[in-house]
Formats: sequence, C-alpha cells, structure tokens
Amino acid sequence: MIKIGLTGGIASGKSTVSAMIKNFGIPIIDADIISREVVEPGEEAYKQIVASFGSDILLENGQINRKKLGSIVFQDADQRIILNNIVHPQVRKSMLQKINFYEKKGEKAIVLDIPLLFEGKLTGWVDKKLLVYVDPKTQLERLINRDHSTEKQALDRIRSQMPLDEKKALADAIIDNNGSVDNTLQQLKAIFRQWHIF
Ligand code: ADP
Repeated sequence: MIKIGLTGGIASGKSTVSAMIKNFGIPIIDADIISREVVEPGEEAYKQIVASFGSDILLENGQINRKKLGSIVFQDADQRIILNNIVHPQVRKSMLQKINFYEKKGEKAIVLDIPLLFEGKLTGWVDKKLLVYVDPKTQLERLINRDHSTEKQALDRIRSQMPLDEKKALADAIIDNNGSVDNTLQQLKAIFRQWHIF
C-alpha cells in the first residue's frame, strides 16, 4: 500500500485537493479530524488535558473549550508543549490504527492529510509527499476571502507557518494551485498516474 502525505499551507487549497482525492474513492486519514476526535470526553487525551489544565477549560456540556485552551497555549510556550505532549501521541496512535485498518483491507493507496507534515515528524511515515502550492499573493487573497479576515490577521497566520516556498524543496510532487480548480484536478491526476495509483 502506497502512503501519500498531502500537505500545503493555510489556504493553499489542501482541502480542495483532499475533496478531489476522496472523489476518486481513495481513503483519506485526516490529521485535523483525528486531533479533534482524540480530545472528545472519555478519551485518554481528554482525561490528561483535564488533569493538567483543570476543569476551567471545559464547556458546560463537558466538551473541551478549544478556544479557551487555544488561547492559553498560544500565549505560553511551556503550556503548549504540555498540550502537544498529550495530544500528539494519541493522534499518532489513532493514525497508525487507521493505516493498519486500510492495509488489512487491501487498499492500494491511502492519503494522509497532514497540515504540518514537514513541521512535524511524520514525513518518515509516508512514501510520497504531495504539496499543494500557491504563490504568496494568491494565498493572501484566498485566505482573506475565505475567512473574511483582515489583511493583518491573514498575514499573521501565513507568517506563523513554514513558507510554502521552503516546503517546495521537501516535496516529491507539487500541485500549482494558482490556476483554476480544473487545472489543479488535471495536475493531481497526472501525478497519481505517474505514481501508478490509477
Ligand atoms: P486549505 O485547505 O489549504 O486551507 P482551501 O482548499 O480551503 O485551502 O482553499 C482556500 C480557499 O481558496 C477556499 O475558499 C477555496 O474555495 C479557494 N480555492 C482553492 N483552490 C482554488 C482555485 N484553484 N481557484 C480558486 N479558488 C480556489
């Protein structure tokens, strides 16, 4: 089974490409979804978060108040490390379980959708790294349009990530998403044909 790591930068079009891959019928393991699942009430990471951060970070319904927790760790690097050390191992564990599930099922290819593929330590897990790229100007425009953010908010978010140009050097294949959605689809198909997925 070939494992493809899909990544990008904020508003580069990763979700757009991920939806195309899903349409091909290829299984996708989504790191963002998993990172929400592992902090659901009753899960191991949930228990550890409440033990470390106190029940003040809970909503009335018992769910973790992600906004509140986010603002705590955003301001404090030590707390951020504590949270990551709780959440990341559980995310990796869940991803491994899902990889094993698809492997046993006999899937030919799966895609791991991982926003921080290069920033994290998961590159060793995948056989191919696929980057969705846009130029800085398009990235800023699409981010502002999608999230209705100000230019400053959008720039702050873009600048908090590894620049897309740096990620280019680390990828096995790059989809240039500056053009139309259909053009992106054609590029994706060509790459998958090259990798013998189709
Ligand atoms: P990401 O998942 O990388 O953050 P999205 O897939 O959400 O990015 O794309 C960012 C925004 O740009 C979305 O509003 C999306 O609809 C739009 N978009 C993505 N690709 C294109 C494209 N090729 N042409 C025009 N708009 C696009």
